[in-house]
Order: sequence, then C-alpha cells, then structure tokens
Amino acid sequence: MTKECMEMIYLDYNGTAPLRPQVRGFVESYQHIAGNASSVHALGRKARSVVENARENVAALANALPENMVFNSGATEANNTVIRFFAGKKIYASAIEHPSVLEAGITGTIPVTRDGVVDLAALEKILQDEKPALVSVMYVNNETGVIQPIEEIVKRCRAHDAKIHCDAVQAAGRIPLDIKKIGVDYLTLSAHKIGGLQGAGALIIGMCRETPLLLNGGGQEKRRRAGTENVFAIGAFGVAAEAAKQGIEDFQKIAGLRDRLEAGLKDIAPSIIIHGINAPRVANTSFFSLPNISSETQLIAMDLARLCVSNGSACSSGTVKSSYVLEAMGCSKDVASSALRVSLGWESTEEDIEKFLAAYAKFAQRIAA
Ligand code: PMP
Repeated sequence: MTKECMEMIYLDYNGTAPLRPQVRGFVESYQHIAGNASSVHALGRKARSVVENARENVAALANALPENMVFNSGATEANNTVIRFFAGKKIYASAIEHPSVLEAGITGTIPVTRDGVVDLAALEKILQDEKPALVSVMYVNNETGVIQPIEEIVKRCRAHDAKIHCDAVQAAGRIPLDIKKIGVDYLTLSAHKIGGLQGAGALIIGMCRETPLLLNGGGQEKRRRAGTENVFAIGAFGVAAEAAKQGIEDFQKIAGLRDRLEAGLKDIAPSIIIHGINAPRVANTSFFSLPNISSETQLIAMDLARLCVSNGSACSSGTVKSSYVLEAMGCSKDVASSALRVSLGWESTEEDIEKFLAAYAKFAQRIAA
C-alpha cells in the first residue's frame, strides 16, 4: 500500500471495498500464472480450476447451485443482461435501484416510502393494473443501507406471474443471503463490494430456468456469457466470497461503530437527518443530510481531512449530484443534495469513527461561524 493510501481513512465500502487480506494473498500467488481457462494445456487447466473453485465459493455465499451461476464483468452487466432480456415486455423496478437497472430499459418505477422501503401497496397495484413480466428490486440499497422486504415482494410477484430480479450487491457479505429461501428468478452480485477485485461479478439463475444472454460469441460459461473469463478477478471473487461468508457474524458488530457515529453526529448538529433509520438496515451504512450544506462542500472538507466518504452513489464522472434515492423517499431537493454516506467494513475501527467525528465537528463549527 502506498503512503498516501495508508494515511487515508477509508469509509466508503459501499462504493468499493478494500481487498480482503485473503484476496491480497491470492493476488500475490496467482499473478505469475498465465492460462486461458478454455485452453487444454496444464496452465489452461489450472485457470479452469481457479474459475470452478470460485464458482463453488460464490455460489455458497448465496446458497445457490454452482451450475446456475454465470460469471461476468460485474453487477452493471448482470443487471443489464436481465433487463434487456425482457425488452419489449413490461418491466418495473423500484425507484431506488442502481442506474444499471433504471437506465437499462425499464417501463416504470415502483415508489418507496419515506423510510426507503418499497411501497408494497403501490407494488400490488402495479402488479394488478400493469401485469409486468419482470419486477426488479434490490435487496439492500447502496445509499441508505435499507433492507427491502424481498420475500414479501417475491410472494406478491409470484401471485401475478411476474418474474423477479434482485440486485443483491449490497446484501452479499452483509446479511445472510439465500437464493433458495427468497426464491427470486435472478440475482446479481459484484466482487468488489465484498473485498474482491473490480471487474468481476455474477448473475445467478434462480427459480427461472431461462438464462438471459447479453454477449454472444465464444462458448464460455456454457454459452451463457461469451468472452475469455477474467480468471484473475474471478479467482479473487471466490476467495472474497469465502471470507465474506465466514465473516457475516462479525460484520454485524459493525453496527456498534455505525451507532456511535450517528450518536456523535446528532451531538455535533441536532439538525442532521439520518435516512432510513426507522427501517431495517445493514450494519455498516449511515446516510445523513446536513440541510443547506451541499454534499460537495462536505465531501471536500472530509477529503481534506483525509477521510474517504461519499455522497451516495459513486458517479462515473466524479461529479456530485443530488441523491435520486432521497428524492424518491420524498426528501426535498435541499435535503437530497446535502447528504453524505459513511459506509464501514471489516477494517473499520473505533479510532476511524472518532477521527471522522472530530473532523466533522470542526467542519460544522467552521460553517456555523
Ligand atoms: N448495484 C448496486 C446496488 C451497486 O451498489 C453497484 C455499485 N455501485 C452496482 C450495482 C454496479 O456494480 P459494478 O460496479 O460491479 O458494475
């Protein structure tokens, strides 16, 4: 790690998580090995065994069958693959989905409550009136950390013969994940949110036997996703998945740090609004607004204090926008554009939280002066 990285306090696990120690070990040991997983020679076979081993481990993280898992380049590809497969039919997604769902060709959105939970009555009405072929609802929202009632949603979709896709990127490694129990048709995962490398993900085929196809060409992934496998990143994904599964219980302890953070924030500025606090949330995410102070101003102040936090979604252009998730939750434009997200993980410490709070208190004093 460079000196610059070591001096930063990393509180943006939902944006991307640092590599897990086990993954660093894999990266060190695997980096000298060449080999296309489709090649017949010894190194090809070695690459194949890395991919198949990873398949077992990633499948185990979601209690899925390894043969139902298709590796790809990440959650954006998985989400696009499912949504585009239903092109021409009615597709409804919750209003707080990731842009890789919202912008992939959906018909309409399902509203959420003020707490950031899918509005079940509104979903029911859409199922009855619109009869969508596909409903897409994420398991955990990346901005608020709010856990969606996915089993209830699946039950309602089944009653109306709608297929159901679930982006479980922010649930994996954070809460127990069991595709058989929740009963969705398609499930999306991403390696870099659980401590693997960026650029690998998976689409798991659940109840539905039909495999959506985005890329044609080679016969990789049993003809379900053409293109040479990213063996390095897939191998790391498997290692991260194994560690994530083992670490789920420990992950829940992070809630103590998150609660300390939120109590400290309320002491610093009682006007702070903590989003989704009345809904079930994953242990690591806190999303709050300091009204009238733009996300950008807050982000820059924290960055200068060497704290890596986020305004919500990591935007590809690096610009800071108002949160569409908060707008969907009924927040005013002002509240939606003054939000900051702190997302913690397995390397977060009490000291990190105290440093964040000290920097935030200093910032709040400065702007109040
Ligand atoms: N879905 C959710 C909920 C996410 O948080 C992200 C990452 N921001 C994605 C999809 C996209 O994942 P990837 O970077 O693997 O394409």
